[in-house]
Amino acid sequence: MKITIHRGKDQIGGCITEIESKNGSRIIIDLGHNLPKGDKESEDEYASDEAVAKLTEGVNDIFYTHNHGDHVELFHFVPEGKNQYIGPLALKMMQKRYEHMSYVDEWKSGCEYKLEKLSTFKTYSIAKQIPAGEIKVTPFAVSHSATDSYMLVVECDGKRVLHTGDFREHGYTGGKLIDVIEKYGIAGNIDVLITEGTNIGQADKRVRPEAEVQEEMLQVMRKYKNVFILSSSADADRLESIWSANKRRRYRPFVCDVYQKQTMAAIAEARKGMGRYYQFDDNKVYPYCSDNKKLVNWMKDKGFTMMIRRSVKFQGYLDEILPWCKPEETCLIYSQFRGYIIQSHEAFSEKTKAFVDQFPHLEYAHTSGHASKETLEKVCNAVNPKAAIIPIHKTAMADFKALDIGEELKNKVVENEIDIDGIKIDFH
Ligand SMILES: [Zn+2]
Ligand SMILES: [Zn+2]
Repeated sequence: MKITIHRGKDQIGGCITEIESKNGSRIIIDLGHNLPKGDKESEDEYASDEAVAKLTEGVNDIFYTHNHGDHVELFHFVPEGKNQYIGPLALKMMQKRYEHMSYVDEWKSGCEYKLEKLSTFKTYSIAKQIPAGEIKVTPFAVSHSATDSYMLVVECDGKRVLHTGDFREHGYTGGKLIDVIEKYGIAGNIDVLITEGTNIGQADKRVRPEAEVQEEMLQVMRKYKNVFILSSSADADRLESIWSANKRRRYRPFVCDVYQKQTMAAIAEARKGMGRYYQFDDNKVYPYCSDNKKLVNWMKDKGFTMMIRRSVKFQGYLDEILPWCKPEETCLIYSQFRGYIIQSHEAFSEKTKAFVDQFPHLEYAHTSGHASKETLEKVCNAVNPKAAIIPIHKTAMADFKALDIGEELKNKVVENEIDIDGIKIDFH
Protein backbone atom coordinates (compact mmCIF):
# COMPACT_ATOMS: atom_id res chain seq x y z
CA MET A 1 0.00 0.00 0.00
CA LYS A 2 1.14 3.52 -0.74
CA ILE A 3 -0.15 6.65 1.02
CA THR A 4 0.56 10.03 -0.54
CA ILE A 5 -0.15 13.22 1.38
CA HIS A 6 -0.46 16.28 -0.83
CA ARG A 7 0.39 19.55 0.93
CA GLY A 8 -1.09 18.46 4.27
CA LYS A 9 2.21 18.43 6.11
CA ASP A 10 2.65 22.13 6.64
CA GLN A 11 -0.57 23.80 5.67
CA ILE A 12 -4.15 23.91 6.90
CA GLY A 13 -6.59 23.31 4.07
CA GLY A 14 -6.10 22.25 0.47
CA CYS A 15 -6.11 18.68 1.73
CA ILE A 16 -5.64 15.73 -0.62
CA THR A 17 -4.75 12.18 0.47
CA GLU A 18 -4.14 9.36 -2.00
CA ILE A 19 -4.15 5.65 -1.12
CA GLU A 20 -3.02 3.00 -3.61
CA SER A 21 -3.05 -0.78 -3.32
CA LYS A 22 -0.12 -2.87 -4.55
CA ASN A 23 -2.18 -3.97 -7.56
CA GLY A 24 -2.96 -0.39 -8.52
CA SER A 25 -6.44 0.35 -7.06
CA ARG A 26 -6.33 3.98 -6.07
CA ILE A 27 -8.66 6.27 -4.09
CA ILE A 28 -8.50 9.92 -3.10
CA ILE A 29 -9.74 11.30 0.20
CA ASP A 30 -10.68 15.00 -0.05
CA LEU A 31 -9.90 17.29 -2.97
CA GLY A 32 -9.59 20.53 -1.09
CA HIS A 33 -8.88 24.01 -2.36
CA ASN A 34 -6.32 26.20 -0.59
CA LEU A 35 -7.94 28.49 1.97
CA PRO A 36 -8.40 32.14 0.92
CA LYS A 37 -6.32 34.86 2.53
CA GLY A 38 -8.35 37.93 3.50
CA ASP A 39 -10.32 39.50 0.65
CA LYS A 40 -8.06 38.00 -2.03
CA GLU A 41 -9.15 35.08 -4.22
CA SER A 42 -7.32 32.00 -3.01
CA GLU A 43 -4.74 30.58 -5.37
CA ASP A 44 -4.38 26.89 -6.04
CA GLU A 45 -2.13 25.12 -8.52
CA TYR A 46 -4.69 22.29 -8.79
CA ALA A 47 -7.68 24.52 -9.58
CA SER A 48 -8.06 23.57 -13.25
CA ASP A 49 -9.62 20.76 -15.28
CA GLU A 50 -6.17 19.69 -16.49
CA ALA A 51 -4.51 19.56 -13.06
CA VAL A 52 -7.37 17.61 -11.46
CA ALA A 53 -7.62 15.26 -14.47
CA LYS A 54 -3.92 14.48 -14.00
CA LEU A 55 -4.22 14.09 -10.24
CA THR A 56 -7.19 11.74 -10.53
CA GLU A 57 -5.87 9.67 -13.44
CA GLY A 58 -6.53 6.00 -12.67
CA VAL A 59 -8.70 6.92 -9.66
CA ASN A 60 -12.31 5.72 -9.79
CA ASP A 61 -13.47 6.75 -6.34
CA ILE A 62 -13.11 10.00 -4.42
CA PHE A 63 -14.33 10.28 -0.83
CA TYR A 64 -14.97 13.61 0.89
CA THR A 65 -14.88 13.73 4.69
CA HIS A 66 -17.04 16.90 4.78
CA ASN A 67 -18.12 19.88 2.71
CA HIS A 68 -15.71 22.63 3.78
CA GLY A 69 -14.05 24.19 0.73
CA ASP A 70 -10.58 23.23 1.91
CA HIS A 71 -11.66 19.55 1.57
CA VAL A 72 -14.14 19.53 -1.31
CA GLU A 73 -13.83 22.63 -3.49
CA LEU A 74 -11.95 21.01 -6.41
CA PHE A 75 -14.89 18.61 -7.01
CA HIS A 76 -16.16 20.44 -10.08
CA PHE A 77 -12.87 19.89 -11.93
CA VAL A 78 -13.15 16.09 -11.58
CA PRO A 79 -13.64 14.44 -15.00
CA GLU A 80 -16.93 12.68 -15.65
CA GLY A 81 -17.33 9.01 -14.87
CA LYS A 82 -15.64 8.96 -11.46
CA ASN A 83 -17.54 8.18 -8.25
CA GLN A 84 -17.56 11.06 -5.78
CA TYR A 85 -18.92 10.26 -2.30
CA ILE A 86 -19.99 12.52 0.58
CA GLY A 87 -22.49 12.43 3.48
CA PRO A 88 -26.14 12.92 2.43
CA LEU A 89 -26.81 16.06 4.47
CA ALA A 90 -23.40 17.49 3.53
CA LEU A 91 -24.42 17.11 -0.12
CA LYS A 92 -27.80 18.72 0.45
CA MET A 93 -26.16 21.70 2.17
CA MET A 94 -23.82 22.21 -0.79
CA GLN A 95 -26.74 22.05 -3.20
CA LYS A 96 -28.73 24.60 -1.17
CA ARG A 97 -25.75 26.92 -1.10
CA TYR A 98 -25.15 26.85 -4.86
CA GLU A 99 -28.88 27.16 -5.57
CA HIS A 100 -28.91 30.26 -3.39
CA MET A 101 -25.75 31.71 -4.97
CA SER A 102 -27.09 31.11 -8.48
CA TYR A 103 -29.59 33.95 -7.97
CA VAL A 104 -26.67 36.38 -8.38
CA ASP A 105 -26.26 36.99 -12.12
CA GLU A 106 -22.47 36.88 -12.24
CA TRP A 107 -22.37 33.53 -10.36
CA LYS A 108 -25.33 31.92 -12.12
CA SER A 109 -23.58 29.85 -14.79
CA GLY A 110 -20.74 28.75 -12.48
CA CYS A 111 -23.22 27.63 -9.83
CA GLU A 112 -25.39 25.80 -12.33
CA TYR A 113 -22.33 23.94 -13.58
CA LYS A 114 -21.42 22.95 -10.01
CA LEU A 115 -25.01 21.85 -9.29
CA GLU A 116 -24.90 19.63 -12.34
CA LYS A 117 -21.68 18.05 -11.09
CA LEU A 118 -23.18 17.60 -7.61
CA SER A 119 -26.20 15.82 -9.09
CA THR A 120 -23.83 12.94 -9.99
CA PHE A 121 -22.51 12.60 -6.40
CA LYS A 122 -23.12 9.44 -4.40
CA THR A 123 -23.75 9.48 -0.67
CA TYR A 124 -22.53 7.12 2.03
CA SER A 125 -23.96 6.10 5.37
CA ILE A 126 -22.53 5.44 8.81
CA ALA A 127 -20.65 2.14 9.20
CA LYS A 128 -21.65 0.99 5.71
CA GLN A 129 -18.63 -0.23 3.75
CA ILE A 130 -18.09 0.96 0.17
CA PRO A 131 -15.87 -1.08 -2.16
CA ALA A 132 -13.47 0.88 -4.38
CA GLY A 133 -11.63 -1.69 -6.47
CA GLU A 134 -9.57 -3.69 -4.00
CA ILE A 135 -9.92 -0.97 -1.39
CA LYS A 136 -12.82 -0.72 1.08
CA VAL A 137 -13.92 2.48 2.79
CA THR A 138 -16.19 2.75 5.84
CA PRO A 139 -17.41 6.14 7.13
CA PHE A 140 -18.16 7.04 10.77
CA ALA A 141 -19.78 10.33 11.83
CA VAL A 142 -17.70 12.91 13.70
CA SER A 143 -18.49 16.30 15.19
CA HIS A 144 -17.02 19.29 13.31
CA SER A 145 -18.03 22.82 12.34
CA ALA A 146 -19.24 21.48 8.98
CA THR A 147 -22.58 19.69 9.24
CA ASP A 148 -22.44 15.95 8.49
CA SER A 149 -18.70 15.25 8.78
CA TYR A 150 -17.04 11.82 8.81
CA MET A 151 -13.83 9.96 9.52
CA LEU A 152 -13.01 7.08 7.19
CA VAL A 153 -11.59 3.62 7.82
CA VAL A 154 -9.76 2.40 4.70
CA GLU A 155 -8.86 -1.26 4.21
CA CYS A 156 -6.17 -1.99 1.65
CA ASP A 157 -3.68 -4.87 1.16
CA GLY A 158 -4.65 -6.34 4.55
CA LYS A 159 -3.83 -3.04 6.31
CA ARG A 160 -6.22 -0.54 7.91
CA VAL A 161 -5.95 3.24 7.80
CA LEU A 162 -8.05 5.71 9.82
CA HIS A 163 -8.36 9.15 8.19
CA THR A 164 -10.00 11.45 10.75
CA GLY A 165 -10.94 14.34 8.45
CA ASP A 166 -11.58 17.48 10.53
CA PHE A 167 -13.14 16.69 13.89
CA ARG A 168 -13.60 17.78 17.48
CA GLU A 169 -14.79 16.39 20.76
CA HIS A 170 -16.25 19.61 22.19
CA GLY A 171 -19.24 19.93 19.82
CA TYR A 172 -22.74 18.85 20.91
CA THR A 173 -22.30 15.30 19.62
CA GLY A 174 -18.51 15.18 19.94
CA GLY A 175 -18.60 13.24 23.21
CA LYS A 176 -19.32 10.05 21.27
CA LEU A 177 -15.95 10.12 19.52
CA ILE A 178 -14.00 7.69 21.69
CA ASP A 179 -17.08 5.44 22.05
CA VAL A 180 -17.31 5.14 18.27
CA ILE A 181 -13.60 4.35 18.04
CA GLU A 182 -14.07 1.61 20.62
CA LYS A 183 -17.48 0.30 19.59
CA TYR A 184 -16.65 -0.24 15.93
CA GLY A 185 -13.39 -2.06 16.55
CA ILE A 186 -11.23 0.83 15.39
CA ALA A 187 -9.27 1.03 18.65
CA GLY A 188 -6.12 -1.09 18.48
CA ASN A 189 -7.02 -2.30 15.02
CA ILE A 190 -5.45 0.35 12.79
CA ASP A 191 -2.05 0.37 11.10
CA VAL A 192 -1.89 4.02 10.06
CA LEU A 193 -3.65 6.96 11.69
CA ILE A 194 -3.91 10.06 9.48
CA THR A 195 -5.14 12.89 11.68
CA GLU A 196 -5.74 16.61 11.54
CA GLY A 197 -3.59 18.77 13.83
CA THR A 198 -5.09 22.23 13.29
CA ASN A 199 -4.90 23.31 16.93
CA ILE A 200 -1.43 21.95 17.66
CA GLY A 201 1.23 24.60 17.97
CA GLN A 202 -1.30 27.46 17.96
CA ALA A 203 -0.22 29.55 20.94
CA ASP A 204 -3.79 29.15 22.18
CA LYS A 205 -5.60 28.38 25.14
CA ARG A 206 -8.24 26.06 26.34
CA VAL A 207 -10.65 25.00 23.60
CA ARG A 208 -14.10 25.87 24.92
CA PRO A 209 -17.08 23.53 24.51
CA GLU A 210 -19.78 24.61 22.06
CA ALA A 211 -22.25 24.63 24.98
CA GLU A 212 -20.26 27.53 26.49
CA VAL A 213 -20.77 29.50 23.28
CA GLN A 214 -24.51 29.12 23.81
CA GLU A 215 -24.19 30.43 27.38
CA GLU A 216 -22.15 33.43 26.19
CA MET A 217 -24.75 34.19 23.55
CA LEU A 218 -27.49 34.03 26.14
CA GLN A 219 -25.60 36.53 28.32
CA VAL A 220 -25.37 38.94 25.37
CA MET A 221 -29.08 38.44 24.61
CA ARG A 222 -29.86 39.31 28.24
CA LYS A 223 -27.79 42.48 28.01
CA TYR A 224 -29.02 43.70 24.61
CA LYS A 225 -32.51 43.84 23.13
CA ASN A 226 -31.44 43.79 19.49
CA VAL A 227 -28.89 41.08 18.74
CA PHE A 228 -27.37 40.47 15.31
CA ILE A 229 -25.18 37.42 14.80
CA LEU A 230 -22.47 37.02 12.17
CA SER A 231 -21.73 33.34 11.87
CA SER A 232 -21.51 30.38 9.48
CA SER A 233 -24.95 29.60 8.12
CA ALA A 234 -24.10 25.93 7.63
CA ASP A 235 -22.63 24.87 10.99
CA ALA A 236 -25.35 22.82 12.72
CA ASP A 237 -23.68 23.14 16.13
CA ARG A 238 -23.45 26.93 15.99
CA LEU A 239 -27.03 27.14 14.75
CA GLU A 240 -28.03 24.97 17.72
CA SER A 241 -26.20 27.37 20.08
CA ILE A 242 -27.91 30.43 18.61
CA TRP A 243 -31.32 28.77 18.36
CA SER A 244 -31.31 27.44 21.91
CA ALA A 245 -29.94 30.66 23.43
CA ASN A 246 -32.69 32.64 21.70
CA LYS A 247 -35.34 30.13 22.79
CA ARG A 248 -34.32 30.71 26.39
CA ARG A 249 -35.05 34.42 25.94
CA ARG A 250 -38.66 33.64 24.91
CA TYR A 251 -40.91 36.12 23.06
CA ARG A 252 -38.04 37.21 20.81
CA PRO A 253 -38.31 36.28 17.15
CA PHE A 254 -35.50 34.32 15.49
CA VAL A 255 -34.97 36.28 12.27
CA CYS A 256 -32.85 35.40 9.23
CA ASP A 257 -33.36 35.10 5.46
CA VAL A 258 -35.03 32.46 3.31
CA TYR A 259 -31.73 30.66 2.60
CA GLN A 260 -30.90 30.36 6.30
CA LYS A 261 -34.43 29.15 7.00
CA GLN A 262 -34.08 26.45 4.32
CA THR A 263 -30.68 25.38 5.67
CA MET A 264 -32.08 24.98 9.17
CA ALA A 265 -35.12 23.09 7.85
CA ALA A 266 -32.81 20.69 5.96
CA ILE A 267 -30.74 20.02 9.09
CA ALA A 268 -33.84 19.58 11.30
CA GLU A 269 -35.41 17.22 8.75
CA ALA A 270 -32.27 15.07 8.51
CA ARG A 271 -31.86 14.93 12.30
CA LYS A 272 -35.54 14.40 13.16
CA GLY A 273 -35.96 11.92 16.00
CA MET A 274 -32.17 11.68 16.47
CA GLY A 275 -31.76 13.16 19.92
CA ARG A 276 -32.41 16.60 21.29
CA TYR A 277 -30.15 18.71 19.11
CA TYR A 278 -30.86 20.47 15.81
CA GLN A 279 -34.65 20.29 16.23
CA PHE A 280 -35.24 23.76 14.76
CA ASP A 281 -38.94 24.57 14.51
CA ASP A 282 -39.49 25.86 10.99
CA ASN A 283 -42.66 27.69 12.07
CA LYS A 284 -40.58 29.81 14.41
CA VAL A 285 -37.83 30.82 11.96
CA TYR A 286 -38.81 34.15 10.40
CA PRO A 287 -37.25 35.39 7.17
CA TYR A 288 -36.90 39.17 7.31
CA CYS A 289 -39.02 41.23 4.95
CA SER A 290 -39.74 44.93 5.47
CA ASP A 291 -43.29 44.35 4.16
CA ASN A 292 -43.97 41.94 6.99
CA LYS A 293 -45.23 44.68 9.34
CA LYS A 294 -46.27 42.17 11.98
CA LEU A 295 -42.69 40.85 12.22
CA VAL A 296 -41.12 44.33 12.14
CA ASN A 297 -43.44 45.51 14.93
CA TRP A 298 -42.65 42.41 16.97
CA MET A 299 -38.92 43.06 16.51
CA LYS A 300 -39.37 46.69 17.60
CA ASP A 301 -41.42 45.69 20.62
CA LYS A 302 -39.57 42.65 22.03
CA GLY A 303 -36.19 42.86 20.36
CA PHE A 304 -34.80 40.01 18.24
CA THR A 305 -32.01 37.62 17.36
CA MET A 306 -31.10 38.04 13.70
CA MET A 307 -28.61 35.92 11.79
CA ILE A 308 -26.82 37.97 9.14
CA ARG A 309 -24.13 37.56 6.50
CA ARG A 310 -21.90 40.10 4.80
CA SER A 311 -23.78 40.64 1.54
CA VAL A 312 -25.49 43.36 -0.46
CA LYS A 313 -28.89 41.94 0.48
CA PHE A 314 -28.18 41.93 4.22
CA GLN A 315 -26.68 45.40 4.04
CA GLY A 316 -30.03 46.50 2.61
CA TYR A 317 -31.84 44.91 5.57
CA LEU A 318 -29.44 46.53 8.02
CA ASP A 319 -29.92 49.94 6.40
CA GLU A 320 -33.61 49.54 7.22
CA ILE A 321 -33.31 48.04 10.71
CA LEU A 322 -30.32 49.77 12.32
CA PRO A 323 -31.82 53.31 12.15
CA TRP A 324 -34.69 52.32 14.48
CA CYS A 325 -32.47 50.38 16.92
CA LYS A 326 -31.30 52.33 19.98
CA PRO A 327 -27.47 52.06 19.99
CA GLU A 328 -27.35 51.20 23.70
CA GLU A 329 -29.70 48.26 23.09
CA THR A 330 -27.99 46.91 19.98
CA CYS A 331 -25.11 44.50 19.55
CA LEU A 332 -23.40 42.27 17.01
CA ILE A 333 -22.22 38.86 18.20
CA TYR A 334 -19.20 38.03 16.10
CA SER A 335 -19.28 34.24 15.97
CA GLN A 336 -16.56 33.17 13.58
CA PHE A 337 -12.77 33.13 13.26
CA ARG A 338 -11.42 36.31 14.82
CA GLY A 339 -8.46 36.59 12.41
CA TYR A 340 -10.74 38.13 9.74
CA ILE A 341 -11.08 41.32 11.77
CA ILE A 342 -7.57 41.54 13.22
CA GLN A 343 -5.51 43.85 11.05
CA SER A 344 -2.21 42.08 11.59
CA HIS A 345 -3.61 38.62 10.74
CA GLU A 346 -2.97 37.11 7.29
CA ALA A 347 -6.71 36.30 7.02
CA PHE A 348 -7.66 39.96 7.72
CA SER A 349 -10.58 41.14 5.58
CA GLU A 350 -11.06 44.87 5.28
CA LYS A 351 -14.64 44.30 4.07
CA THR A 352 -15.55 42.16 7.06
CA LYS A 353 -13.97 44.68 9.45
CA ALA A 354 -15.96 47.55 7.88
CA PHE A 355 -19.15 45.47 8.05
CA VAL A 356 -18.60 44.70 11.74
CA ASP A 357 -17.76 48.31 12.57
CA GLN A 358 -21.25 49.56 11.69
CA PHE A 359 -22.73 48.04 14.88
CA PRO A 360 -22.78 50.08 18.10
CA HIS A 361 -21.51 47.16 20.25
CA LEU A 362 -19.50 44.07 19.48
CA GLU A 363 -19.30 40.84 21.48
CA TYR A 364 -17.40 37.67 20.61
CA ALA A 365 -18.72 34.12 20.99
CA HIS A 366 -16.91 31.39 19.10
CA THR A 367 -14.93 28.20 19.57
CA SER A 368 -12.74 26.07 17.35
CA GLY A 369 -14.20 23.51 14.94
CA HIS A 370 -11.10 21.36 15.47
CA ALA A 371 -9.77 18.88 17.99
CA SER A 372 -8.02 20.22 21.08
CA LYS A 373 -4.58 18.94 22.04
CA GLU A 374 -6.19 16.74 24.71
CA THR A 375 -8.62 15.22 22.22
CA LEU A 376 -5.82 14.43 19.77
CA GLU A 377 -3.91 12.73 22.58
CA LYS A 378 -7.00 10.66 23.45
CA VAL A 379 -7.53 9.66 19.82
CA CYS A 380 -3.87 8.69 19.28
CA ASN A 381 -3.89 6.66 22.50
CA ALA A 382 -7.26 4.98 21.81
CA VAL A 383 -6.50 4.13 18.18
CA ASN A 384 -2.94 3.14 19.11
CA PRO A 385 -1.86 2.54 15.50
CA LYS A 386 0.58 -0.29 14.82
CA ALA A 387 2.76 1.42 12.22
CA ALA A 388 2.37 5.19 11.90
CA ILE A 389 0.69 8.47 12.85
CA ILE A 390 0.62 10.93 9.95
CA PRO A 391 -0.35 14.47 11.05
CA ILE A 392 -2.00 16.57 8.33
CA HIS A 393 -4.05 19.81 8.13
CA LYS A 394 -1.65 21.65 10.41
CA THR A 395 0.98 24.36 10.35
CA ALA A 396 4.66 23.56 10.06
CA MET A 397 4.95 24.53 13.72
CA ALA A 398 2.66 21.75 14.95
CA ASP A 399 4.79 19.21 16.81
CA PHE A 400 3.01 15.90 17.41
CA LYS A 401 6.03 14.63 19.29
CA ALA A 402 5.19 17.17 21.98
CA LEU A 403 1.83 15.48 22.61
CA ASP A 404 1.32 13.38 25.69
CA ILE A 405 1.15 10.05 23.84
CA GLY A 406 4.08 8.02 25.17
CA GLU A 407 7.44 7.28 23.57
CA GLU A 408 6.26 4.35 21.49
CA LEU A 409 3.59 6.38 19.70
CA LYS A 410 5.84 9.44 19.40
CA ASN A 411 8.30 7.28 17.48
CA LYS A 412 5.53 6.40 15.04
CA VAL A 413 4.90 10.03 14.03
CA VAL A 414 5.81 10.23 10.34
CA GLU A 415 6.58 13.54 8.64
CA ASN A 416 8.96 12.45 5.93
CA GLU A 417 9.00 9.83 3.22
CA ILE A 418 9.32 6.36 4.72
CA ASP A 419 8.64 2.65 4.13
CA ILE A 420 7.27 0.75 7.13
CA ASP A 421 5.71 -2.73 7.32
CA GLY A 422 5.15 -2.73 3.55
CA ILE A 423 3.46 0.68 3.67
CA LYS A 424 5.09 3.42 1.63
CA ILE A 425 4.32 6.92 2.89
CA ASP A 426 5.07 9.87 0.66
CA PHE A 427 4.61 13.66 0.89
CA HIS A 428 4.04 16.06 -1.99
ZN1 LIG B 1 -10.27 21.75 7.00
ZN1 LIG C 1 -13.43 21.50 8.03
